[in-house]
Amino acid sequence: NVNEIVENAILKLDVSAKNKKQQIDYHTSEEDLTVFADIDKLEQVVLNVLSNAIKYTAEAGKIHIETKNENDVVKIIIHDNGIGIPSKDLPRIFERFYRVDKARTRELGGTGLGLSIAKQIMEAHDGKIELFSGEGITGTKAIITLPAVEKAFASV
Ligand code: ATP
Ligand code: MG
Repeated sequence: NVNEIVENAILKLDVSAKNKKQQIDYHTSEEDLTVFADIDKLEQVVLNVLSNAIKYTAEAGKIHIETKNENDVVKIIIHDNGIGIPSKDLPRIFERFYRVDKARTRELGGTGLGLSIAKQIMEAHDGKIELFSGEGITGTKAIITLPAVEKAFASV
């Protein structure tokens, strides 16, 4: 159940967000969003993306999380109103150790591995992770997608 995974990830990062006086709001259109996935690995993906949203968004910023099923594709959307990603860097952020503007990110800490790990995990799940920033988008929007599974088949 994708919603349980997302809720757990939010709980784990709640303190970091509160320390920055950030507000995380979470909205789901459905009670049951079932996928075939390694629960811990999928939670890791959400944690990596959500921790970036917290890290690269200023104090008192906002993070909006939404889960839904669109044409049998389950989507987890994590949208922050932080510093965003320059379009020249966007194509490279899934590379191992790639970090936007070393001066900007040095003081924030990190290794530049979070998104490359997330991408590997999503590909192993027949899923996808995409990041959008710039043109018409406030901050950064991450969309994680997975094929939906009918609940009746999930326990087989
Ligand atoms: P790590 O996750 O290993 O601690 P990291 O956060 O620097 O380090 P990634 O999570 O792979 O590494 O992210 C790569 C780079 O993409 C970051 O250094 C940052 O510059 C940029 N980035 C990622 N998410 C966001 C975001 N939500 N807003 C702005 N920039 C982001
Ligand atoms: Mg990171």
